[in-house]
Amino acid sequence: MLPDTSKRTRSESIFKQASQVIPGGVNSPARAFGAVGGTPPFMKRGEGAYLLDVDGNCFIDYIGSWGPHLFGHRHPAILQAIEQALLIGTSFGAPTEAEAEMAQLVIEMVPSIEMVRMVNSGTEATMSAIRVARGFTGRNGIVKFAGCYHGHVDSLLVAAGSGALTLGCPSSPGVPPGATANTVVLTYNDCESLKVAFQKNGDQLAAVILEPVVGNMGCVIPTPEFLSLLRQLCTQHGTVLIFDEVMTGFRVAAGGAQQLFGITPDMTTLGKIIGAGMPVGAYGGRADIMNCVSPIGKVYQAGTLSGNPVAMAAGIAMLKLIREQNPYPRLEQAGQRLADGFQAAAHAARVDVRINRIGSMLTVFLTSHTVTDLDSATASDTARFARWFHGMLNRGVYLPCSQFEAMFVSAVHTNADIDQTIAAAVASFAGCQTD
Ligand SMILES: *Cc1c(COP(=O)(O)O)cnc(C)c1O
Repeated sequence: MLPDTSKRTRSESIFKQASQVIPGGVNSPARAFGAVGGTPPFMKRGEGAYLLDVDGNCFIDYIGSWGPHLFGHRHPAILQAIEQALLIGTSFGAPTEAEAEMAQLVIEMVPSIEMVRMVNSGTEATMSAIRVARGFTGRNGIVKFAGCYHGHVDSLLVAAGSGALTLGCPSSPGVPPGATANTVVLTYNDCESLKVAFQKNGDQLAAVILEPVVGNMGCVIPTPEFLSLLRQLCTQHGTVLIFDEVMTGFRVAAGGAQQLFGITPDMTTLGKIIGAGMPVGAYGGRADIMNCVSPIGKVYQAGTLSGNPVAMAAGIAMLKLIREQNPYPRLEQAGQRLADGFQAAAHAARVDVRINRIGSMLTVFLTSHTVTDLDSATASDTARFARWFHGMLNRGVYLPCSQFEAMFVSAVHTNADIDQTIAAAVASFAGCQTD
């Protein structure tokens, strides 16, 4: 028996009120239902794998705050760490031991990181990494890939994924042409254009930045040749290879995509899971590069609340949980069960889908073609996706509200949760043809 979560009148009235005082009623565009229509449910409470909204509906949550909740909402170990930290003080603006402990944990877990700096968001992490790479190399050029999203950094807001893609404004007003003049945009997984770009501009390229598994045009997986060519060209030309692991870090493996694929970047950016739901980002890498960062080096980067004690406590508890529990075998199993179920449900309803998945991170693309880059992702049937999405939402399943986002399974989703989700998918795929 599937729940009926279609009555959301209180959310609708709060949304109306919020829209008067907040642009679009939301504090981050990906939360609005721009791509699928309708009103987002306003959430009241999280509990493990579930979210409860203000109308009393309960949803199985496959967003997990867009990644952070690897162990579900309100895991006791994380809550306890936050409570203890709160009692001592919320911020000192002075160094604390927790920051060193956090840095040590990150360095032990992520293979390429020798030194690390904490910031407050993924955007800050990528913005800072780009500056450090430019300072280190004395060059200005950067390569990014169409459909990758690296936060709302001016120089990276070209052909960007996530909310920017969904809203159909791949670059944003307010970003002066000068800010992106040194940014070269290439096609993900395209080895030929990468070679040409390095032949032409290799010696002016400070950095190549990419999502080593893309989440922000939906889940897109790199070919092994693409990743190893990147590594080889960057080494050859003295270009800094930056893996933006804000989404994949601690998600696809304890050491991120770099561990999974055995490719060592020069710098790595982290976010999302590292803060366990608190606002944390980090950037790190080779010691010779990180020694360029102020105050030891000349590249300036700072933050009043960076390394915040409450956020560090949450992050440390998260990383320790990962080490103690090794959730990755279970995440793989759960991800596989969900993907297989979606595939069968779509097949039964004769809906064409392509499911891209790595572990607990996946996207159901409504298309009959393989999805390897932005063009193949955007060939999906977004109108049908919107109908499927609303079918799922009305049956108690909370999915990302865009075709071009990844969904996440947590370590606390049970097989029963997944089977209920698949039952909802059977009904929603059947309905999405004509609804
Ligand atoms: C979410 C995300 C960012 C931006 O992080 P914020 O904390 O939203 O600023 C950057 N890069 C990737 C790959 C992301 O998924």
